[in-house]
Amino acid sequence: DRLISARAGDHEEVQDRAVRPALLSEYVGQPAVREQMDIFISAARGRHEALDHVLIFGPPGLGKTTLANIVANEMNVSIKTTSGPVLEKAGDLAAMLTNLEEGDVLFIDEIHRLSAVVEEVLYPAMEDYQLDIMIGEGPAARSIKLDLPPFTLVGATTRAGLLTSPLRDRFGIVQRLEFYNTADLTHIIERTARLSGVDIDKEGAYEIARRSRGTPRIANRLLRRVRDYAEVRANGHINAATADQALNMLKVDSEGFDHMDRRLLLAMIEKFDGGPVGVESLAAAISEERGTIEDVIEPFLIQQGFMVRTPRGRMVTSHAYLHFGIEREAPASE
Ligand code: ADP
Repeated sequence: DRLISARAGDHEEVQDRAVRPALLSEYVGQPAVREQMDIFISAARGRHEALDHVLIFGPPGLGKTTLANIVANEMNVSIKTTSGPVLEKAGDLAAMLTNLEEGDVLFIDEIHRLSAVVEEVLYPAMEDYQLDIMIGEGPAARSIKLDLPPFTLVGATTRAGLLTSPLRDRFGIVQRLEFYNTADLTHIIERTARLSGVDIDKEGAYEIARRSRGTPRIANRLLRRVRDYAEVRANGHINAATADQALNMLKVDSEGFDHMDRRLLLAMIEKFDGGPVGVESLAAAISEERGTIEDVIEPFLIQQGFMVRTPRGRMVTSHAYLHFGIEREAPASE
C-alpha cells in the first residue's frame, strides 16, 4: 500500500471525519476558493435560494469532499452523498433526487464516471429541477415528469477535462483546488495534532508539511505515522529531528517523494532517456494504471517542476536529474 497515496483507506475515513473542517472559516488555504464560496453562499442564503451547482476539481486528498460538506453546513441543509460509479442506472439517480428536500446538497464524487444514461437524467434535474424518466419497456413504456425541490448539485472530479461539456456547462460555480503550500500544511498538521492530542512543535509540523506532497490527506496520514514513531522512540514528542527520522524510516524523501514518484521519474530517466515518452508506455514500464499516473502521481511532480507534459509526451526536467544525482547525458547532435 502506498503511504503517500492521496486516496483514503476505509479505516482512515473514520479518523478523517474527526478532524475534517466543518465550516469555511476552518478550511485552511485555498484563499481564492474560500473568498468566492463565502460570497456565493452568503448571497444565496440572503435570497433564501438554493446555491447554484458547484463543480470542484483537483487531485485526490485536496479537500473536495470536505468543501462539499462545508457548503451544506454553511447553507444549513442536509447533504446526500454518492459517486459516479455507484449510480449505475437512471433509477439510482432518480431515487437520490426524489429523496432531496428543498435546498439540500447532492454530492456526487467522481462525477466524470457517470454513465451516459444517468447523465441524461441529470441535465433537466440541474437545469429546471425536473425529473424526466422512462418507466417500463417496449410499447408500454412511458415517460413521467416530476418536479424536484430546488437543490444544489456538488460534483467532484480529479480533472475538469474528464467531464463532457454539456455536463460541465451546467455548473454555475467551478472551483479548482490547488496543491497546498508548506505554511498551510503546517497549519493543518498543527490543527489535526491539537484535535487528536498529539504533542508536536512548530518545527516538527513544518518538517512533515514540507514532505506531504502539497496534500492535506497525506499530511494527516504522515502525522499519524510520525506520532507512532515518536511514541515508541521519543516519549511521544514530535520535533523536527523526530519527524525527519520517522519520515526517513517511512522512505518519504526530502521532497516528499515516495517509491512511486521515484519509480516514475527514474523510469523516465533510465528507460526513456528522460523522454518524451507517452503515458501508456510509461504506465507499462512501471506497471501502473494510466489513470493513477495522470490523477495521483504526476500532477504534483509537474507542479513542482520535476517533469513536464509536452505534445510529444512526458519529459523529466533537470530538476529531476539533480534530485537523483544523475548526470544528464549530452543530447545527441542531430
Ligand atoms: P478529496 O475529497 O479531495 O479527496 P477530502 O476532502 O476527503 O479530499 O480531504 C482529505 C482530508 O484532508 C480531510 O479529511 C481533511 O481532514 C483534510 N483537509 C482537506 N482540505 C483541508 C483544508 N482546506 N483544511 C484542513 N484540512 C483539510
